[in-house]
Amino acid sequence: MSPVQRQLVVFDFDWSLADQDTDRWIFEVLAPDIRREMKTAKAEIQWTDLVAQSLQKAHSRGITKVAIENTLKIMPFHPAMVRAVSKLKADGKTTFFCLSNANSVFINTILESKGLELLFEEVVTNPAEWEPSGLLKLRRRVDPRGPQHTCTIGCSPNMCKGAELDAFLARHLPDYDRIIYVGDGTNDFCPILRLRSQDKVLCRSHRGLQKRIRDEGEKEGLKCEVEYWAGAWEIEEIFGTL
Ligand SMILES: [Mg+2]
Ligand SMILES: [Zn+2]
Repeated sequence: MSPVQRQLVVFDFDWSLADQDTDRWIFEVLAPDIRREMKTAKAEIQWTDLVAQSLQKAHSRGITKVAIENTLKIMPFHPAMVRAVSKLKADGKTTFFCLSNANSVFINTILESKGLELLFEEVVTNPAEWEPSGLLKLRRRVDPRGPQHTCTIGCSPNMCKGAELDAFLARHLPDYDRIIYVGDGTNDFCPILRLRSQDKVLCRSHRGLQKRIRDEGEKEGLKCEVEYWAGAWEIEEIFGTL
């Protein structure tokens, strides 16, 4: 293989860069009864909308912005992951792109608390903002009132990660020599179908993406190399070889 001079690392956020799921974590810590309701309502309400509704419920019972921020700051996040991305970034040939179904406030709050606020070239996720009342207002990235994405691979209506990856690559030409995609979830399957044979997915073991690669990878024509990992210390090892 010719030497890689310009590479892209794409990170999913929940259970990939971070060691938990932001949407679920804040309710598990601050309002477990709301977390329980979400488990049941999940089948009927689109997930981003459900999180938005749950944030409204939390706000109406007096759960504050500070409480939510503090809960995000203590969410499990492996020190080896901080080291891994910081070292690779400092080496200079890697661009980082975050592609997540969480939201901008959750992600930025956590990145800032780890000193990683400058890591990503772009963070593509659902938009969120604090209202003066302390309500965290969350919306889908793809507005439900406008044109919808046309994904046939099974992405949730709020965003097609494959289309977003294509759009990022089109904004950042020329093509990267190599793309490394770090993900764990079923919605990371669509974007990794866009990867080429010289690219690699670092798939977290025992979660939805592993199952989809096993069941649908061949049928859908997955071309990239697949490597599995379980703990962030292994990402640190792998990044050390890139
Ligand atoms: Mg994830
Ligand atoms: Zn898709």
